[in-house]
Amino acid sequence: MTGKIIKGIAGFYYVHDGSSRIYECRAKGIFRNRKIKPLVGDDVEFTVLNEEQSEGNIDAILPRKNQLIRPASVNVDQALVVFAITHPEPNLNLLDRFLVMMGTQDVPVIICFNKIDLCGGEQMDIYRSIYEKAGYQVVFISTYEEAGIRELRELLRGKTTVLAGPSGVGKSSLTNFLLPEAAMETGGISEKIQRGKHTTRHSQLFCVDDHTYLMDTPGFSSLYLDMPPQELKDYFCEFTPYEDECRFLGCVHVGEKVCGVKNALKEGKLSRSRYDNYLLIYEELKEKERRKY
Ligand code: GDP
Ligand code: ZN
Repeated sequence: MTGKIIKGIAGFYYVHDGSSRIYECRAKGIFRNRKIKPLVGDDVEFTVLNEEQSEGNIDAILPRKNQLIRPASVNVDQALVVFAITHPEPNLNLLDRFLVMMGTQDVPVIICFNKIDLCGGEQMDIYRSIYEKAGYQVVFISTYEEAGIRELRELLRGKTTVLAGPSGVGKSSLTNFLLPEAAMETGGISEKIQRGKHTTRHSQLFCVDDHTYLMDTPGFSSLYLDMPPQELKDYFCEFTPYEDECRFLGCVHVGEKVCGVKNALKEGKLSRSRYDNYLLIYEELKEKERRKY
């Protein structure tokens, strides 16, 4: 059988079969063959040892599609980053940092603004325009009014999605919403790992639909980026079409006189907030580089 590791506790791996069952597995044998440690998110081949007790053994780890450093995870298809559209106001600098961080790891991001029951349509238009122009998928939801949830479910279907965002924006409310009641009810093992008596804050995948998983990550209030400053622009995709008009190859769109990106900004074709955050992050990376040498 094949399945996915949704949690690991003290030498046990909990393997979800893709639809409704969870097996408590050991991983005897795989350490001996290859020195590879099973991780949450791994797709595995396993043998059922006792169907009644839902016990099994993992025989092999299937090849990993990717392995993210931050947040630590494997086989991630996409990230869903949640911010409140208001209460609290979204910290767009933090959002733009997150987008860069996922960009460097090649993970597509869906941006989700929650609490739209608290704002007007104009506010949604502003954020939609900024982030769709930057090439991201943007969804607006309210867990209070159940708005936008169906569309969001469609975007998650069949994929493994990392859920991220600062605290207080409604991530837990959303997770509870998406979790089918059945998943909580399936008895022994499911309860055991939900209760998490012996668990520390290890990551865990929640199955929200057939072959559809959500990984909860701790809320964050700051994000650390490290890269050569001149590479930052590559993660602001909306700049690219204007770079032809920059005088210098490798223009970083900061102090250069003839710069297509700065022109586009002046003409209102690029978002001020994205560019300002670009500048702030650029300066910070530059400062970091100075201190290194
Ligand atoms: P988390 O810290 O990101 O997991 O956020 P929570 O799910 O704990 O929610 C934080 C607060 O926002 C709670 O008081 C929720 O009741 C509230 N909240 C969550 N979703 C909504 C929403 O759609 N609209 C409004 N107005 N408040 C919400
Ligand atoms: Zn330029």
